[in-house]
Amino acid sequence: MSHVFHRHLKQRYPTAVSGEGPYLIDADGRRYLDACGGAAVSCLGHSDAEVVEAIREQVGRLAYAHSSFFTTEPMEALADFLVERAPEGLSSVYFVSGGSEAVEAALKLARQYFVERGETERRHLIARRQSYHGNTLGALATGGNAWRRRQFEPLLVEVTHVSPCYAYRGQAPGETPEAYGERLAQELEAEIQRLGPQTVMAFVAEPVVGATLGAVPAVPGYFKRVREICDRHGILLILDEVMCGMGRTGSLFAAEQEGVSPDLVTIAKGLGAGYQPIGATLVSERIRAAIAEGSGFFQHGHTYIGHATACAAALAVQRTIESRDLLSRVRTLGEGLQGRLEDRFGEHPHVGDIRGRGLFRGLELVADRDGKTPFAPERKLHAAIKRTAMDHGLMCYPMGGTIDGQRGDHILLAPPFILEESHLDEIVDKLDATLKSVLGH
Ligand code: PMP
Repeated sequence: MSHVFHRHLKQRYPTAVSGEGPYLIDADGRRYLDACGGAAVSCLGHSDAEVVEAIREQVGRLAYAHSSFFTTEPMEALADFLVERAPEGLSSVYFVSGGSEAVEAALKLARQYFVERGETERRHLIARRQSYHGNTLGALATGGNAWRRRQFEPLLVEVTHVSPCYAYRGQAPGETPEAYGERLAQELEAEIQRLGPQTVMAFVAEPVVGATLGAVPAVPGYFKRVREICDRHGILLILDEVMCGMGRTGSLFAAEQEGVSPDLVTIAKGLGAGYQPIGATLVSERIRAAIAEGSGFFQHGHTYIGHATACAAALAVQRTIESRDLLSRVRTLGEGLQGRLEDRFGEHPHVGDIRGRGLFRGLELVADRDGKTPFAPERKLHAAIKRTAMDHGLMCYPMGGTIDGQRGDHILLAPPFILEESHLDEIVDKLDATLKSVLGH
């Protein structure tokens, strides 16, 4: 019996023993094409020599120094790298070990910012339904995913939720994307008025929704309107780019494609590409300055803040992506993947929508296309697809429909940026074989 407390205690997992570019290899020698980067993590594949060497070099010199005693060269260099390329106004980086921690730090930074300014009544957070921002309690409270929250309620942080920007299901027949975006902006405005604008601290959203909806970008103009509304009421805009950031959608930050400058941005997954656990919160100058000129101390911290080896790994990952011009590859391969998915599944009776940006693509599965009826959650389609895809040597990231029945199952694809065109064919072929086995089509 395994002594590891696995998440699925009734499931047996193959043992991953090595990696080779976009493939993972198990103890029986089976190869799996990693079409989801785990959970949109492994953007450089699994054995990048430059990154491995950078880690070796750093760990041999200095693996770790506690951030309350020292700063380190890799931490400073990584912060410089990110700020130089970040949306306007973001001027510093708070390093943590993963996505949930980055979200927690963003929430506490937002709160402390208002406390430093004497606006202590600003405590409400607004996020969106069917969203995921992490599993620690603050991040879980922020997320609007009923299935993940249900058994832990009541949650510690009070958050209210507005509708996500989810055109496939939310946009009314005959409604233009612009009108749909405006309707959602009005919903946010109404929620702010209901709570009292002077009591609202921040609005939190993913620019392209990953785990809960499956690579769903907002309609054009939505985030611009959100930014305007936040500005009008002095509310901070927190963009969660844990999954969609670090080049996944074809630009280093997904917010660039929305033309907005957020106050706080969370990143993780693709930052270290799985070579080391690392996340970060990018902080705008006005928040940094309010805290620096006020108490001068962010009342928060973890043992592994700015871990030297993790920062060295992330810096090597990001420099490699830049020096090999992999973001333009993400854009080209992304179009190639979308085209192939549409060719193969565009008429599929159970594929309702194919969407996404860059190498971040989602297929929504429905029982019938015309009614967009989701499959019954009890069918646990996502589990069958994941298992069957693995049998076909493919890793993809399917998620189940919610208990509130407001969306269908989806399959998320987030492959490494280093793919060859032939891997796109392999992904689509293996996905096709998987759907045929599970759905009969
Ligand atoms: N935010 C988003 C948007 C995510 O997708 C995730 C992870 N799926 C998290 C936060 C939490 O990140 P982690 O699992 O690294 O704690």
